[in-house]
Amino acid sequence: MQFAALAARAEELEAEPGDLATIGLAADLFAEADEDLPTVVRFLQGRVFPAWDSTTLDVGPALLHEAIARAAGQNVTADDVEADLAEIGEIGAVAATYDFGGQRGLGAFAGDDGDDLTVAEVDETLREIARVTGDGSERRRLDTLFGLFNRASPSEAKVLARLVLGEMRIGVGEGTVRDAVALAFLDGETGDESEAGEAEADDGDDEDSDDEPISPADDAVAAVERALQVSNDYGMVAEVAREDGRAGLDDIGLEVGRPVQAMLAQAGTATEAVDDWGEAAVETKFDGARVQVHHDGEGTRLFSRNMDDVTDPLPEVVEFVDRELDGPAVLDGEIVAVADDGSPCPFQEVLRRFRRKYDVERMRDEVRVELRAFDCLHADGEDLLDASLSERHERLEELLGHTDAVSDLTVTDDPEEIAEIEDAALSAGHEGIMLKDPGSTYAPGKRGRNWLKRKPDVETLDLVVTGAEWGEGRRANLLGTFLVSARIEEADRTDATDDAYATLGKVATGITDERLESLTERLEPHIVREEGQTVDIEPAVVFEVGYEEIQRSPTYSSEYALRFPRFVDVREDKSPSDADTLARVERLADGQ
Ligand code: ATP
Repeated sequence: MQFAALAARAEELEAEPGDLATIGLAADLFAEADEDLPTVVRFLQGRVFPAWDSTTLDVGPALLHEAIARAAGQNVTADDVEADLAEIGEIGAVAATYDFGGQRGLGAFAGDDGDDLTVAEVDETLREIARVTGDGSERRRLDTLFGLFNRASPSEAKVLARLVLGEMRIGVGEGTVRDAVALAFLDGETGDESEAGEAEADDGDDEDSDDEPISPADDAVAAVERALQVSNDYGMVAEVAREDGRAGLDDIGLEVGRPVQAMLAQAGTATEAVDDWGEAAVETKFDGARVQVHHDGEGTRLFSRNMDDVTDPLPEVVEFVDRELDGPAVLDGEIVAVADDGSPCPFQEVLRRFRRKYDVERMRDEVRVELRAFDCLHADGEDLLDASLSERHERLEELLGHTDAVSDLTVTDDPEEIAEIEDAALSAGHEGIMLKDPGSTYAPGKRGRNWLKRKPDVETLDLVVTGAEWGEGRRANLLGTFLVSARIEEADRTDATDDAYATLGKVATGITDERLESLTERLEPHIVREEGQTVDIEPAVVFEVGYEEIQRSPTYSSEYALRFPRFVDVREDKSPSDADTLARVERLADGQ
């Protein structure tokens, strides 16, 4: 497929306000994509690699601005690009204002010069950028990226710039891709009497209905969704849906080495649990960082809750798993930091280890981490996602024995007994308890009612840093005040191009000078605009923020403000897409 065709469809999608029409446009594009389907599906989501693959292009805003400036011609500098960005507000739109053709030489004027970008070529070139390492890698990335922009039309440049930064801003989220795949490839397959079926049946009666957007059948959507949650590869799922239909999707199982979305929990009480399920499975809620363990019989890889590969920073966990497991297995659990006497250390200690690239061996001596596994999703060639929690936990005990590395699971119908377990967990320094439906299956990516968490009320929100202010005097080189925002879920945005984040307050307290230095280092590469002391920061870092109360306020775009906000920590284990939502903030404010 020509990259220009994709870019043209991206423009149409961006301009389309209707959800169903958006799904229809995406579905048409997928149907036309031929062998480029997996790439087209990923590109529409601003991705080069599948969601489970943590490979990055390693191209920050500064390098991108430089590449755009270079392709735009001799008179344009990266500073000019940044000035335009300050005015226009978004790098894709900025890139589309330049005429890159001038650099193309004579071929550019020859019309069909055979030099048009294809989707496959852009994909391969971006992957090449991701592979660059070693001396002079920054320069090589810049040269390669320049080469792409140099051949791009304005609408292609817009898509390229957005792709490089990983955000397409065309209103196509995961839900749209899921529905579009269902509509493009599963429509018309056998299923129950579906909306799509009805819409099709209508066609014969109504001449105009050809133009009416059609929604995909519910069971087709469910089949695609399941495949996505298990594989986290939208491109592959689309291809399987096209080639092998629903049966093919149902066959997509766990693969050791490819992380699954983590099952999540809601807040709940012992009485609710026992009333709903008859009996509840109760276990400690460990205060650490989520980890998914993939052991293929020989080696082990560890993945964070966002599916980032965290194998290298946690060598002792890898050694432990390699020692304990013989056959292939996928386990779900928590990494905790423990003191010399085995008692749990605060969560912050774990984070000192979790994403560390350097000094791993030195930190290993400073902070001891251990695995606490609580679930088993695959054992010895058998997928266990559809097995009951009780059975999965038994399999886990078979693999690791009754050791500290496996959660203690008590199944009971007695709220008193649950209260005792909770007291014991809290006095042992744990975060609280988890209540789980013993008969429930493992639902990847779902925050349902089958897992309930109970912990003493700590009022914190996980919010995305979207701005900051430089400090004064001795702190002039440090960012000192941080603007934090809640995430607006796609379904709650009125317009595809609406902001994805709503500001909620400024955090300036609870941070030591030393910490400010590391936060500044961390956030500076993400600065996208600067005016006086104030900077805008692209969503990349999540802060855990404590507060006393949520108030209504005209000051921030969320129309709420936090009373006495204070910095607790960086949630290294979360990305902006895991941050708390505006809908949650509203619910918390209503419930106060
Ligand atoms: P929190 O900040 O409360 O951890 P969260 O948004 O990170 O919330 P939740 O789904 O709300 O995640 O809470 C479940 C989390 O608790 C899991 O993601 C996991 O990291 C952690 N956890 C600790 N012990 C357990 C356990 N025994 N079973 C399941 N999850 C556990």
